Amino acid sequence: MPGKNLSRDEAQQRASILAVDGYQVRLDVTSAPDQAAGTFRSTTTVTFRCSRPGADTFLDLLAPAVRSVTLNGRALDPATAYDGARVHVDGLAAENVLTVEADCAYSRTGEGLHRFVDPVDGETYLYTHYEPADARRVFANFEQPDLKAPFTFTVTAPAAWDVWSNAPHETVAADGGARTWEFAPTRPISTYLTAVVAGPYHVARDHYRRELADGTALEIPLSAMCRRSLAPYFDADEILGVTKLGLDFFHEEFDYPYPFGKYDQAFVPEYNIGAMENPGCVTFREEYVFRSKVTDAAYEARANVILHEMAHMWFGDLVTMRWWDDLWLKESFADFMGSYGLIGARTRYSSAWVTFANQRKAWAYRQDQFPTTHPITADIRDLEDAKLNFDGITYAKGASVLKQLVAYVGSEAFFEGARRYFKRHAFGNTELGDLLEVLEETSGRDLKSWAAAWLQTSGVNALTPQVTTDAEGRITELAVLQDGDVLRPHRIAVGLYDRDADGALVRTGRIELDVTGARTVVAEAAGLPRPALVLLNDDDLTYCKIRFDEESLENLRAGLGDIRDELARALTWSAVWNLTRDGLMPARDYVALVLRFAGQEDNIGVLQSLHAQAKTAVDLYADPAWRAEGGRLLADGALRELRGAVPGSDHQLAWARFLAQTAGGAEHLGLVRGLLAGSARIDGLEVDQDLRWSLWLALAAAGQATDEELAAELAADNTASGKRHHTQCLAARPTAEAKAAAWSAVIDSDELPSALVEANTAGFSIPAQRDLAALYAAPYFKLLERVWAERSIEIAMRIVGGFFPIAQTDGQTLAEADAWLAGHPQAAPALRRLVLERRDDLARALRAQACDRA
Ligand SMILES: [Zn+2]
Repeated sequence: MPGKNLSRDEAQQRASILAVDGYQVRLDVTSAPDQAAGTFRSTTTVTFRCSRPGADTFLDLLAPAVRSVTLNGRALDPATAYDGARVHVDGLAAENVLTVEADCAYSRTGEGLHRFVDPVDGETYLYTHYEPADARRVFANFEQPDLKAPFTFTVTAPAAWDVWSNAPHETVAADGGARTWEFAPTRPISTYLTAVVAGPYHVARDHYRRELADGTALEIPLSAMCRRSLAPYFDADEILGVTKLGLDFFHEEFDYPYPFGKYDQAFVPEYNIGAMENPGCVTFREEYVFRSKVTDAAYEARANVILHEMAHMWFGDLVTMRWWDDLWLKESFADFMGSYGLIGARTRYSSAWVTFANQRKAWAYRQDQFPTTHPITADIRDLEDAKLNFDGITYAKGASVLKQLVAYVGSEAFFEGARRYFKRHAFGNTELGDLLEVLEETSGRDLKSWAAAWLQTSGVNALTPQVTTDAEGRITELAVLQDGDVLRPHRIAVGLYDRDADGALVRTGRIELDVTGARTVVAEAAGLPRPALVLLNDDDLTYCKIRFDEESLENLRAGLGDIRDELARALTWSAVWNLTRDGLMPARDYVALVLRFAGQEDNIGVLQSLHAQAKTAVDLYADPAWRAEGGRLLADGALRELRGAVPGSDHQLAWARFLAQTAGGAEHLGLVRGLLAGSARIDGLEVDQDLRWSLWLALAAAGQATDEELAAELAADNTASGKRHHTQCLAARPTAEAKAAAWSAVIDSDELPSALVEANTAGFSIPAQRDLAALYAAPYFKLLERVWAERSIEIAMRIVGGFFPIAQTDGQTLAEADAWLAGHPQAAPALRRLVLERRDDLARALRAQACDRA
């Protein structure tokens, strides 16, 4: 394998001859506050056995310099042993001690040991992020999940700092201007799960205690930290409160005591993902510390992530997939447990399954209809494949399928299976078969065909009701039609809905059955009165696209918002969005539904999805000839609902943000400017810092914000967040110069952290400015391979996705994308996958436009 990649075959080969007894890792980060210092000292001593003495192997390491390599007392020449990605060693003994001393680089891309300087107070903060394979940027190791070992970290850091790692520290010794932190050895864990967090973080502490069945007590010290300048906004009580509810709940469900001693949760800057389940030392993106008012959907999302990461302590950390093919064994479970736990742990987020149905599943449906979709158990040849597999299939579809599995085997069999799985495989590695084995034991069912249909094939089925009635309006037959490349067994509920005395659409009947094959008759429905709405997959038990019979769809056009049950309503919204995406409902009809009924939507998360989807419908799926009118309608609707919303409510804030996203005309932009200046007020709406930036973005995109005004706003909010918003506003201005500057900042320099790359691409790619961005379509395709080769994968992924000319919906860009794909069959598969997916989005937009035109 070339360069930084590592193949599954190589990993298997290495695991077949090696067993690792332990790592001692010493890091010296005292240089971190000195921004001129680019590296830190890293010394690893790994003790391991080899079943084939005399064999050779390699350690993974991405470091600017290797100072020494010593195998069993024998010094090797780094110049020959180290090739830039691997430390090669030969002549292994049965028992080996290998020490590698290197200078490793501080990261600005969130990969490895990330360094951040707070513009507010100049303080420096460090944290690590490794998944899938960036521990090798910090210390030499065998970078694959199935070579688990205990790790003992020693970290020397500036004296004023605190340092955290997976295990608690045992001693802290002063050493001049520094302190050295010796951590206890960890339990056996995978390299990608190790972690170090260091800096003058603000810390909140708490404690969790639980009586165990054997009469002993489990004591878990808790902490939560963030940068000092965020401390005034840090609601640690809420975070730790959810944490304790989660610990109660998972102990009850999993019946395996939390195995990693203490539980720290660090909210860290410029984080590339949502969070990471490092045992005992979870890291989160610090945007979960809310500087301004956010809606309850944001609190729910954060609580979901807290429980998701906590579930990983068992699914992923205690029991880990052997290789990245089975990433779903941890991510699908954690994703499922995030929602399941919000309900089960009795948090205040009782609509968690509504959010799941409406938002997580939308991610899965989208991903599963790309030409690049894959089975939940994937074929991951190497690390680049692995990097792209953190996707809507592995997370959201996998979680959806687990929800279906619970409906299929029952929750008792499901959780008893989990309990056996933990006990049987604690501190080990597993594959699909290991999970099926316990589930077959506890359910008494043969799950091989179920697994083949659901886990080992790709694609989503559509389920459509077919209703025939007699002269009296009674159902003579209700059948469920299934289509898709693979037909699957679905356990579903069919909901029958009619108007009640108040005019609400309420469920008058529910029939649960197994759907198999292309057509399944719902025998119990025969003879019932034909209802106003037949809702397949009511209660959201299975994973499918819901379709409607014609009469139901007509009734929805008149009364979607009258469905009283919020889950049924969310499923219906999701179904009409899928119809729109599939070119089966004109975009303007979807927009009309949103304009008519979104104002009635109680669920704040669903409302926010409707906003985003309605905007996409106008920007990408509507006939271009109707776009301007559609945009005006959305802005008018936003203004109407904003003025009518309950003062101070989440809904009011959501509509204010939506107004900022859609404002185009003089009236709307005038209000935006008035809100910023304080000359206009909306009762109860606090124009706080984040809302101010949303309003500035609207003005900037309309060409109505000057450089001086934007600079003044940044001066008033000279924070990491302010810097991101300011960058996005500059890139969003509708001038050729603004686009050129944003493009150049990302393409011509390797200095920007991923957060600022994102801010630039987001500002650059404003659909309404498609003419300005059109000039960059050709350069984009020319640059792709160079970007992929030269930039780190986190940055390259953001460039490939963020600069793809998705708004160019005239057909020309589709042809350019096809030409690139045809002309680059040998490009990196992960790069081709990203381009294929964006190309598919574009083709879908063109199909939807054709539907809207007709
Ligand atoms: Zn996860």
